Amino acid sequence: MNVSTLFGIIAALQHAEDVKNSFRASKGPCYNHAGYCSCRKGELCNLALARALKRDPGNLFKQWRRVEHILRGVIITRKRAAPGNRPRRYICLAEKWVHAVEEAAEHSWVALREKLGGG
Ligand SMILES: [Zn+2]
Repeated sequence: MNVSTLFGIIAALQHAEDVKNSFRASKGPCYNHAGYCSCRKGELCNLALARALKRDPGNLFKQWRRVEHILRGVIITRKRAAPGNRPRRYICLAEKWVHAVEEAAEHSWVALREKLGGG
């Protein structure tokens, strides 16, 4: 996943409600019909996220799986059983996501320092 996609995801999640509202008029993801999507406030479903970034949902998900473990604690994924044509993943930004990014960077630095042979 490239950096602009990653920052695009974070930006879309920060403004999840605005993103969803922008789909309302076109009956896009989250508004197809009653009960279609069960995203909660602050969450975007996988389909809404792909639409926001103008990406193919399947393709975006493949890239996502490669970075998901790095972003644990920053971006939270809720999974839900649903038919194949409906959203099954709901994604939101952790409340303290900036803090979580800092923590992940600190862990990386500790690992890097060990490799460099420092104390
Ligand atoms: Zn949705």
